[in-house]
Amino acid sequence: MNTKNISKNICVICNEYNCLEEKFKYNKPDNSDKQKFFDNTKTKILSCSECKISYCANINKKKLDDFYNYIYKNKKYIPNRFSEFNSRFFSQALYFINHCKLESDIKLLEIGPNVQGVLPTLKVFQENIHYFYYDQKDIQHTKKNIYKLGTYFDPNINELPNIDLIWMSHTLEHIYPEDLIIMLKAFYKALNPKGKIFIEIPFDIHRNIFNFPHLIFFERFGLEKLFKALNFKIISISYINTDKSSKNGFKKTFETNIRKNNKSEKMNLLKSMYLIFQKFLPDKFVKKYALKNFVKNGPSTELPIIRMIVEK
Ligand SMILES: [Zn+2]
Repeated sequence: MNTKNISKNICVICNEYNCLEEKFKYNKPDNSDKQKFFDNTKTKILSCSECKISYCANINKKKLDDFYNYIYKNKKYIPNRFSEFNSRFFSQALYFINHCKLESDIKLLEIGPNVQGVLPTLKVFQENIHYFYYDQKDIQHTKKNIYKLGTYFDPNINELPNIDLIWMSHTLEHIYPEDLIIMLKAFYKALNPKGKIFIEIPFDIHRNIFNFPHLIFFERFGLEKLFKALNFKIISISYINTDKSSKNGFKKTFETNIRKNNKSEKMNLLKSMYLIFQKFLPDKFVKKYALKNFVKNGPSTELPIIRMIVEK
């Protein structure tokens, strides 16, 4: 267990003394896979009063790596013929092109795309993209100009090519806290002038839910402060799904949750049936079906998220 920084009370992000407190606690592991690798009674979250960022203070890098390898080992994947119609990525792509133009011939780096990533969806708007990525999994669709750079980006070891856009969809909260600053500095160095980073992260602090393997917990103020300190310009930053009754909405009654689970089970069943039958159906039908059923009208999730675009 790494207690070095707790005992000395130094923030791994700002390196300041005596600015750390234990405001939040990890929840119990919510599935049996996590239970094997994670002990919420021993793992601490520290919050920095200077950075306004909270982070996991004592997780072992090797253990984290083992956990990801374990959960990805037996995951099966059926390729989707119209993977561009993915709600999450469609919504992100629309957000991006609402704030900046998606230029032609750009070099895009995605951190942790899993088997799909944002590329198919961005190609709806800009065909000419050179795509680089880091992930333990391999991309399962076939598009031109895809280059895998490695299993995960370690800013202490890997050197990045020059890039124009970095895409981080639900990955920034998984970065090993002690690597955060060196990683962002490496991004800044690799980005061409006016190069951008798109970030989407869950807003866990708003829900007051702290689940492994999330390691860093952000709020707007801390995010802005961090990126400005590293010389980035903030193009946009938004809280999504934080208004209305969504905060209380998470404490829904048992009954509503069951109804919801049944509904999403039905959707999952429908989706897996579709993935099997799509092979035999004409393009026109599949495209229409995929667009209608997999692109949501509104944010792709009901959970609160933060989206941000920054520029070099
Ligand atoms: Zn700090």
